[in-house]
Amino acid sequence: MSQVLVVGGGPAGIAAAVAAARGGAETTLIERYGFLGGMATAGLVNPFMAWHVGRKPLVAGIFRELLDRMKALGGYGSRRAPHAFDPEAFKFAADEICREAGVWVRLHTLLTEVGVQENGITSITTESKSGREQWRARVYVDCTGDADLAFRAGVPCQEGREEDHLTQPMTLNFRMAGVKISRMPDRKTINRLYDKAKAEGRVRCPRENVLFFYTTRPGVVHFNTTRVTGRSGVNADDLTAAELEARRQAREIAAFLVSDVPGFEKAYLEQSGVQIGVRESRRIEGEYTLTAEDVLSARKFSDGIARCNYPIDIHNPAGEGTVIRNVPAGDWYEIPYRCLLPRGADNLLVAGRCVSATHEGQASLRVMPQCFAMGQAAGAAAATALARDCAPRELSAEDLRAALREQGQVI
Ligand SMILES: Cc1cc2nc3c(=O)[nH]c(=O)nc-3n(C[C@H](O)[C@H](O)[C@H](O)COP(=O)(O)OP(=O)(O)OC[C@H]3O[C@@H](n4cnc5c(N)ncnc54)[C@H](O)[C@@H]3O)c2cc1C
Repeated sequence: MSQVLVVGGGPAGIAAAVAAARGGAETTLIERYGFLGGMATAGLVNPFMAWHVGRKPLVAGIFRELLDRMKALGGYGSRRAPHAFDPEAFKFAADEICREAGVWVRLHTLLTEVGVQENGITSITTESKSGREQWRARVYVDCTGDADLAFRAGVPCQEGREEDHLTQPMTLNFRMAGVKISRMPDRKTINRLYDKAKAEGRVRCPRENVLFFYTTRPGVVHFNTTRVTGRSGVNADDLTAAELEARRQAREIAAFLVSDVPGFEKAYLEQSGVQIGVRESRRIEGEYTLTAEDVLSARKFSDGIARCNYPIDIHNPAGEGTVIRNVPAGDWYEIPYRCLLPRGADNLLVAGRCVSATHEGQASLRVMPQCFAMGQAAGAAAATALARDCAPRELSAEDLRAALREQGQVI
């Protein structure tokens, strides 16, 4: 039995496990894949979205440490892409930081069931090559991105927009290698060529333009352009259909790039994500629900545990178009600790993209730097609650904020 059990080893889960272990708690991290990183590695998501106001960082702490480690490995930032990272460097850095903090990591292990009594979780069940196993802890942290643990513990969850429960679309990220980047035309020209290929029926994809990013590797360009709407990230039939549809789109887009876009003549589709990227699935109902108004009014909270100035960025759940609504320039909002506290489960914390927020609120806080920050807060809260022998919801927000500041977090 560990004291803290974190499920899901993405940005939130890595930070939660490291913070809990550094806080003195015996910590286990359970992850379904053979490596850590979640969407950052399995989903091939890149780069880190904005976490600065001017030159001032809004997130530091464990996130900053991971950046430094990736940089030391030669896997962070390049002339064209200062915030791009190499997914392999991310995996190495995540392994290192967890090992050094004393986190016990179990890979290839999927959470399947949760035992509950009264208001608390008694155990979780996993499936792996070792068979079915039961795990117990004093505090559980759900960092599955999909709120798998919270949902199975009976925590009420929401999915998608209020009116029709459609979530943001899924995207299979992919990379083209062998690109002569110096020959690439500007984005406007690429989009004009894309429109033409769409009009001719050579590319069938509901995304309105070609979204691409430069990477840390020479001649490699990252595409966040496929779009699958109307499917749920927590339904296996939908996920299967989404993978197949996105792969078809990726092939068509790659063929279009090679035949129509200067610089891509000798390029090839080098890699796609291990899984399709899921922007949004379940969101828990917590003690507080972050709203669009909180984001757009740059609201601060007495229990704020993370800062964010990423806009509300909604890729149309039903078709073409992307809506961006900005946080006031030069400002940020805070994510309250209460968003991490689910209703009805006393020994559970939730961190990452499935915390308590509306569809619009989630569309802002979902980016990786903030998921690290929420994870760090959840891990620190778990360790502090154990040390004080109280439930996470009984912690004083001021104490938690002070602990995070001591750990180098900006709050
Ligand atoms: C297409 C796309 C593009 C994006 N673009 C950007 C971008 O450019 N920049 C940016 O900063 N952010 C971007 N994001 C957002 C960001 O990648 C995610 O929101 C973020 O990674 C969420 O972090 P997380 O730790 O909450 O969850 P995840 O990254 O989803 O990690 C969850 C982890 O839990 C594991 N897990 C899930 N269920 C179980 C289970 N039952 N048992 C065991 N393990 C489990 C998963 O394998 C995974 O490792 C994008 C997202 C998508 C999908």
